[in-house]
Amino acid sequence: MTDAPDDRTSFADLGLRPELLRALSGLGYEEPTPIQREAIAPLSQGRDLLGQAATGTGKTAAFALPVLQRMGSRTDREPYALVLVPTRELAVQVSEAVHRYGRELGARVLPIYGGQPIGRQLRVLEHGVDVVVATPGRAVDHLNRGTLKLESLQVVVLDEADEMLDMGFAEDLDTILAETPSQRQTVLFSATMPPRIDRLARQHLTDPVRITIGRERTEPGEAPRVRQSAYVVPRAHKPAALGRVLDVEAPTAAIVFCRTRDEVDQLTETLNGRGYRAESLHGGISQEQRDRVMARLRNGTADLLVATDVAARGLDVEQLTHVVNYNVPSAPESYVHRIGRVGRAGREGVAITLAEPREHGMLKTIERVTKQRIAVEKVPTIADLRARRLELTRAALHESLLEDDLEGFRVVVETLADEFDVMEVALAAVKLAHEATGAAADEEEIPDVTHRVERREQQGPRRERRPRPPSAGMTRLFVGAGRSAGIRPQDLVGAIAGEARLPGRDIGAIEIADRFSLVEVPESAAQQVISALRGASIKGRKVTVRRERDDPR
Ligand code: AMP
Repeated sequence: MTDAPDDRTSFADLGLRPELLRALSGLGYEEPTPIQREAIAPLSQGRDLLGQAATGTGKTAAFALPVLQRMGSRTDREPYALVLVPTRELAVQVSEAVHRYGRELGARVLPIYGGQPIGRQLRVLEHGVDVVVATPGRAVDHLNRGTLKLESLQVVVLDEADEMLDMGFAEDLDTILAETPSQRQTVLFSATMPPRIDRLARQHLTDPVRITIGRERTEPGEAPRVRQSAYVVPRAHKPAALGRVLDVEAPTAAIVFCRTRDEVDQLTETLNGRGYRAESLHGGISQEQRDRVMARLRNGTADLLVATDVAARGLDVEQLTHVVNYNVPSAPESYVHRIGRVGRAGREGVAITLAEPREHGMLKTIERVTKQRIAVEKVPTIADLRARRLELTRAALHESLLEDDLEGFRVVVETLADEFDVMEVALAAVKLAHEATGAAADEEEIPDVTHRVERREQQGPRRERRPRPPSAGMTRLFVGAGRSAGIRPQDLVGAIAGEARLPGRDIGAIEIADRFSLVEVPESAAQQVISALRGASIKGRKVTVRRERDDPR
């Protein structure tokens, strides 16, 4: 098969500065992901953009690279770009990404989020920053203190906007955007596009470019015959999880897709350490080496090929039985394209995908687009592995018994049989044979997070997180109305802000269950909020409000 990807645009084709191209190459990125291909050029020209994309698509670089491209090196004190994100984790992650991409440009990046001492943030802001990555609550704090100045801001990015609205940040977003110049560029990314995101976009974006990842559906019949499964694994456990899955699957020949060059090299080393014969293939490998690798795979001296998409292009391996996605692919088309390498000529192939818990949404998108189910399975446990390895030893012994060359060993068994039962002798021999396969090494158990993701799915996207103690200094209140009464986070924020005069940013995490809701408020204001809400109505009805008992369910 010769792969003919519809588009082979490179980062250089997108017109990025040499400083950025060098940074990307240093990170081992070989080509833009689909969302980057579509977003980078218009954003670099200053257009507004409304993008529907989940984690795992490469959306962070899709907005960060154009910001850096337009910004260049500067020495001004006030920020050039503000990225608003729903959580502290994302603030840190996005800051790190911007920092990595903008290193050569000397980009000054500052994450600001609640819970972090404000002193350091003040010092950095005082010195001057280029890109601020903030949670909305903390950004409003800084605006009120006069420590964050947005008058010369050129770009605002709303990242994971649906999450921000779910968390009750709508009002804060309005406050922040009102402080920015009206001719600024505005970028909005959201995993879902409910009407309220549409409203937000209509209000704050001007003639935006629209991008959706995962809208096209593949035609029935296009998808190959492939058994598809996925494993949800925390990042730190991915190498071990892959090793186990491969041990159990025992592929004849497999290709493992990675995102970057470095990932390819590291994983190849890990897999070789585990006893596989793995070869790596990426854009930094010469044609000559490539031919050698392919020959080894074809004649069976290698059983695993670890590769990036770019390097695997045009590759045709008849024997391939398994395709493994070490990460969730950046777009459904890429998934379809990769798994098209197995399951040909009427044989059933196997496609395996490893996803981090936060990439679970992307798996769902792929299922929707391909109209095929991807079964989420449990990573084999140590017990599963032992059973599987014993089975392999048993099969090897079985084979040995069928061969006719055991006579030479008779004397060993006979002498031992004077002293021990023959069964005992056989057991000791099996033990030796089993250990000789190198299967004895004990490993750590990998935490099973599948059920967490599944539970989240049953309850709707953002309603996990229980039981969990409230944040420091906060008290959780029980409000006797929930989703079934049409309660949304903004209703609670509205009621609390309106009735108890508590500013929206002082309100902590909000959870909405079917029959009730939980809201975190500062301990010092809890009584005041309870009294105020008891006299008021939410969505036209009186509701119970009290401090949360241990478990209201
Ligand atoms: P995101 O969807 O922004 O969370 O990105 C998902 C992951 O893909 C991150 O680990 C990025 O470092 C990585 N990534 C983003 N763009 C590329 C690219 N063009 N090539 C390889 N990896 C990428």
